[in-house]
Amino acid sequence: MFVEEIIIDGKKYLVHTYFSNNRSARITLREGNVLNVSLPTRWPKTEQIRISQNLISRAIKSISAGKWCVPLSKNTLLTSGSSFSFFGYGRLRVFFVLASSDEVLSNSDSLTVHSSCSDPSQFTQHCNSLLKLKLLDLALPKIRDRIEYFNSSFFKTKISKISIRDNSGIWGSCSAKSKISLNYKLLFLPSEIVDYVIVHELAHTQFSSHGPRFWSLVKSVMPDYENRKRWLKLHGSNEIALLRSC
Ligand SMILES: [Zn+2]
Repeated sequence: MFVEEIIIDGKKYLVHTYFSNNRSARITLREGNVLNVSLPTRWPKTEQIRISQNLISRAIKSISAGKWCVPLSKNTLLTSGSSFSFFGYGRLRVFFVLASSDEVLSNSDSLTVHSSCSDPSQFTQHCNSLLKLKLLDLALPKIRDRIEYFNSSFFKTKISKISIRDNSGIWGSCSAKSKISLNYKLLFLPSEIVDYVIVHELAHTQFSSHGPRFWSLVKSVMPDYENRKRWLKLHGSNEIALLRSC
């Protein structure tokens, strides 16, 4: 393995390059601004260098465009009594309670998680899993409404599927078949930022790449999109990390 340091928009990133028996090359972004580049051992040296430079320059573009966010570590957990703002619901406070069965009760400004997990070392983790399922349930109809609003007002296209996922290092994606997927972590960010990602992904139903026509379409729908895009790039990941302590 070897390590090099690169600077993207004034921030330091470490690129770890290592070799594996995989058939293809890949690049992943890890906590602490680390980019891991994995290259197949069997490739010729020149090909390894070419592909790795290509992956790194694409990564720099995505990070710089605010398209790639650092995934949260698995131990980012909410604790009982903490509060957070949640898309479409304003500020919500959560409470964790040991109970005979699993259930999440919600009212206008709080959620109470009943967990049957009696192992203290697993309790918070279990509550967080139950909470996440509930939050996904609550968010999906609101996100659908918001996508529908922008789509019917500006894009008038057919969206084949809308999903919210927590397994991705990007804020949103739109497939060639107009399946829109948003990152679960986005739901904890201000609603105008969620709107920006929605408009961005809807614009991909018209243009797949980030060319001038793509950005002028985004701008025609959301004239101040650049501020929102900049905010997401600068604060998106930090803002979510703050959830730990609020
Ligand atoms: Zn895009």
